[in-house]
Amino acid sequence: MKKIKIFNQDWEIGYANDETLNKVNGSSNGLFNGLCDKHHQKIYIYENLKETERRNVVIHEITHAIVHQIGTDFEKSDEETACSFMAFVYPEITRLLKDLDKWLGGGK
Ligand SMILES: [Zn+2]
Repeated sequence: MKKIKIFNQDWEIGYANDETLNKVNGSSNGLFNGLCDKHHQKIYIYENLKETERRNVVIHEITHAIVHQIGTDFEKSDEETACSFMAFVYPEITRLLKDLDKWLGGGK
């Protein structure tokens, strides 16, 4: 697994197959695109996703990790909505900020 820092906390991220995802989640036949194991600080991304889906899932799972670190107390369903919202919005915000980079630095 690849080591990453999320707001200075050590996490690991790696690709996983169905068997591993089910084992991590403690289920037998779930269908997961990704999982965030908050207790072991590990993020699993399903290995058979297209690149665009993969990016979306990575942002979604990293957002779970951030929610955990911040200690925000979402209801489970609200947390899923927040993470999906982030995964949808973040690439567009990143694109816009890159576009506005010079303008922001220049002022006025
Ligand atoms: Zn989720």
